[in-house]
Amino acid sequence: EGKSTVSITVVGASGDLAKKKIFPALFALYYEGCLPEHFTIFGYARSKMTDAELRNMVSRTLTCRIDKRENCDEKMEQFLKRCFYLSGQYDSQENFADLDRKLKEHEAGRVSNRLFYLSVPPNIFIDAVRCASLSASSANGWTRVIVEKPFGRDSDSSAALTRALKQYLDEDQIFRIDHYLGKELVENLSVLRFSNLIFEPLWSRQYIRNVQLIFSEDFGTEGRGGYFDNYGIIRDIMQNHLLQILALFAMETPVSLDAEDIRNEKVKVLRSMRPLQLEDVAIAQYKSHTRGGVTYPAYKDDKAVPKDSLTPTFAAAAFFIDNARWDGVPFLMKAGKALHNRRTEIRVQFRHVPGNLYKRNIGTDLDLATNELVIRVQPDEAIYLKINNKVPGLGMRLDRSNLNLLYSARYSKEIPDAYERLLLDAIEGERRLFIRSDELDAAWSLFTPVLKELEEKKIVPEYYPYGSRGPVGAHYLAARYKVRWGDLEVDQ
Ligand code: NAP
Repeated sequence: EGKSTVSITVVGASGDLAKKKIFPALFALYYEGCLPEHFTIFGYARSKMTDAELRNMVSRTLTCRIDKRENCDEKMEQFLKRCFYLSGQYDSQENFADLDRKLKEHEAGRVSNRLFYLSVPPNIFIDAVRCASLSASSANGWTRVIVEKPFGRDSDSSAALTRALKQYLDEDQIFRIDHYLGKELVENLSVLRFSNLIFEPLWSRQYIRNVQLIFSEDFGTEGRGGYFDNYGIIRDIMQNHLLQILALFAMETPVSLDAEDIRNEKVKVLRSMRPLQLEDVAIAQYKSHTRGGVTYPAYKDDKAVPKDSLTPTFAAAAFFIDNARWDGVPFLMKAGKALHNRRTEIRVQFRHVPGNLYKRNIGTDLDLATNELVIRVQPDEAIYLKINNKVPGLGMRLDRSNLNLLYSARYSKEIPDAYERLLLDAIEGERRLFIRSDELDAAWSLFTPVLKELEEKKIVPEYYPYGSRGPVGAHYLAARYKVRWGDLEVDQ
């Protein structure tokens, strides 16, 4: 391996994602010693910049984790020396041939492995892949391409994108990122379930009453509405991030931890799901709200959003998996912007204890006395289990308490950003956390009919105030399946 190099080209290096996520993640991999000895990073975009200007731009967002602060400036300087920039068009084979020549200079005759990160708007994916593949592929090592969502906006456009990419790349060269799969607690989901005897036996319709996947943001589109309005919250969050978590949660035990074994199980569970029905969806959009003298804007106040937009900024949905393990168990999703908090969590509500001896001591609301397992993906990563417990004292009164694993209290290390793990995996050829094309097709099949119906029937969203707990439609939907949203109950 000493004779091989990795060249990482960030296509769209002048953009937001490159600055915020990709360069900082590459730097973290560098100081963690995870990058190979010989590596070069190239920024590529149309903007004119010198190497020095790129380094200056990048340096502003680099940080060292708390436990790696020693010599941070020096490490930064070493890292930036390995970063270069080339200005070019995304549809120009000549410009990519220039890039190829520059990469070769740095590779200096070693075996060259090349990773292209497409950090550009989706309408540029195919041009950039064509040019990179025809003019800047590695001659003697691997060539891989990372793409970010959106992967189309329905089954047809997604399939068309896949077909176009496959004109230039094999499936095993395409790394479709869903950065939720790189999050620590999402990775831990399988560990929790498969390596603890007390969980896996409970993981079925026999003991689980419902599963909730919840995403909320406490801010709106704030100027990025142009992109968002064409997609909406269902495509932006549910079809990818929440569905991926659902698939990992609900899949059967894979044969091994190999990428293909895991992805096979994920596809199987996606294909066992019923496509979403219109009556199992509630949509909403945030409206302006004034609180404490501050007025928060409506979605339609975003200058980039049409005044008559029906695009949902909030949605709730109920899914069912038609297999032996999950028959009849509702999997509820809820995702929204401009809500009262920022959070991603998985909630597992268990069934009642049959013939509970302590019925009388629990109070009248038996629903509130079931066990609930909560996996908080972000922020303040935690896993906790709600149990019934005797309130200390001479009487016999029960309350709900938490067995609580709060990451910040248990682990002193800062948690790496999802992009670090994903970039490292792409460099190492580990595909476990990337989306295979058949998974993507299966995911779109579940959402495409209902997305079409919402648009064709011009279904009007309910309106909820900016900063609120969301629309009542979400409660009605849950109530149809006798479910209460766990995040709106009081957690100890
Ligand atoms: P961006 O800033 O809008 O675009 C990245 C670069 O692409 C720009 O600096 C610009 O570079 C070039 N570009 C922009 N619009 C263009 C156009 N119409 N025609 C040609 N080139 C154009 O995007 P981003 O926020 O960095 O995101 C990159 C990709 O990641 C997108 O696919 C996005 O959907 C996805 N993504 C982003 C985030 C995020 O947090 N930002 C999160 C998830 C996914 P030049 O003008 O210098 O060529």
